[in-house]
Amino acid sequence: MMSDSLLNALLHAKKVVTLTGAGISAESGIPTFRGAGGLWEGYPVEKVATVEGFEKDPQLVWRFYNERRVNIAKAAPNDAHIILAKMEKIYDLWIITQNIDGLHQKAGSRNVVELHGNIWRVRCTNCGRVEYNYEVPLREIPPRCKRCGGLLRPDVVWFGEPVYDINKAYQLTEKCEIMFVIGTSAQVYPAAYLPRAAWSHGAKIVEINPQETPVSSYADFIFRESATSAMRKIYQAIQEASQ
Ligand SMILES: [Zn+2]
Repeated sequence: MMSDSLLNALLHAKKVVTLTGAGISAESGIPTFRGAGGLWEGYPVEKVATVEGFEKDPQLVWRFYNERRVNIAKAAPNDAHIILAKMEKIYDLWIITQNIDGLHQKAGSRNVVELHGNIWRVRCTNCGRVEYNYEVPLREIPPRCKRCGGLLRPDVVWFGEPVYDINKAYQLTEKCEIMFVIGTSAQVYPAAYLPRAAWSHGAKIVEINPQETPVSSYADFIFRESATSAMRKIYQAIQEASQ
């Protein structure tokens, strides 16, 4: 089952950071970020996930995002999301996520850093106004800014764009005592630096991933299984030990 040294670390830690990627949302039925052959759910990536693609055909890009929003709206947080939200009551816990689906917040997490933005936010390409928009499906494609009538874009990070809140992510990373790396291959930079940075600052690294990743080579503890199964074991062990 779970090692005593991990349990011991979990019982003594205060600051915990969790880096999450597509793998944690896969169990909620949300397809993985990128498929094979440069296609993303059947669309060429450069057409639907770059500024150039958006400028060329905002209609196509919004049809793609509208479809994703429809699918994500149907998805519910799974036990891994829910347990992480509960763990905010035990730890000073922050989630740094590469996901844009908002499922951590839907599960009740409040401390979430979204490196790649959020599919439920839109940003005006003219005046810069950002707002949440939960309309499913969108009535108007492409949607327009309520203030200035400008073209809205999804407030997500596309290829070639800088990620959001990386400084905040580094600050959290440098102070944490334990970092969970869940469902991410940690190959996309700069997020890929974070587990390494936490590790070099002395944090224990707990990898949860059915597959081996670059993090596996230095992780202190590894769960080669799904996020829900590993998080159930971890949470149960913490609860039993604190009774
Ligand atoms: Zn505007």
